[in-house]
Amino acid sequence: MILIIDSVVHMRKTNNLVSAFVSLIVLASCSSASDPTSTNESIIETTSDSDVAELPVIAVTYSVIGDIVSQLVGDRANVKVVVPDGQDPHEFQPSAKDIEIVNNAALVVSNGLEFEEGLEEVLESITDSGGNIFMVGEHITVRKIEDGGEVGNDHGDKHVGGDPHLWLSPATMLEMLPALTSALSEATDADLSAEATILTKKLQNLDQEVELIINNLGECNLVSGHDELGYFADQYGCKVIGAIIPSFTTTSEATAGELADLKKLIQQYKVPAIFTGLGTSQDVADQLASELGVKAVTLSTHYLDGAANYQEFILKMVNQIAEALG
Ligand SMILES: [Zn+2]
Repeated sequence: MILIIDSVVHMRKTNNLVSAFVSLIVLASCSSASDPTSTNESIIETTSDSDVAELPVIAVTYSVIGDIVSQLVGDRANVKVVVPDGQDPHEFQPSAKDIEIVNNAALVVSNGLEFEEGLEEVLESITDSGGNIFMVGEHITVRKIEDGGEVGNDHGDKHVGGDPHLWLSPATMLEMLPALTSALSEATDADLSAEATILTKKLQNLDQEVELIINNLGECNLVSGHDELGYFADQYGCKVIGAIIPSFTTTSEATAGELADLKKLIQQYKVPAIFTGLGTSQDVADQLASELGVKAVTLSTHYLDGAANYQEFILKMVNQIAEALG
């Protein structure tokens, strides 16, 4: 290194020596950052934003889990959410840039239950190549498919699927939190136990608050857009009566017969409101509601929808449910 400094300083002896040394320091500090193909230009660009550039990137497939990851890592990592807030993670198709972000991340955090159908190929290739990926579904009690039902995107392979809508139960998020904390600690090389303790407490409070709201409701019979409220219902004592799209994914459609069956169930259980949202035809929901004289309420269940954090996202949904059924 001293030799290099000498030669460069001699080459630049007509220039300002201080600036030559600053350049060298920049070059020296960057040479340890692994990309040997970088040009000087890109090095300078990178170092101008050095605080962010040096942080490990954690790629999270969708915003709800992205917020939980952010609450754990704080400013120790650059958390990049692949599916933008407001888009359907079931249907999202990644760009070349999205794929690059996922492939180059220090850790990828995904749902793990074939939720992000458009990202499945890139996630599988990371798994196959032994990449660093944390699948939430591997660290929770998975809600299995009942009565021989199918996961919407059945490719005919032997993969046993389960309900991917695990984030809608705070208790399920508490279940996976220790494993997620370990994976993030490893990826960021940081002790995240203090953050984990704080978030655990917040989620425990949220869990209790949700339980209280639903308990006060008395009867909680749910009809949703697609079959998305299972974890929530199982945990907090609600009953899923049915769904407009009777599938774990929005990429399916309901048949006329299925809709007729659903109408009967709504009448039988005297459900006062049905919940719709992402991927459900508003016309079908409105028609169903007006035919049966019930309310159709739109819920945001698959992305933060502007909520400040996971806790706010869940409380908004639960309060909407309580208001509609109360
Ligand atoms: Zn869904």
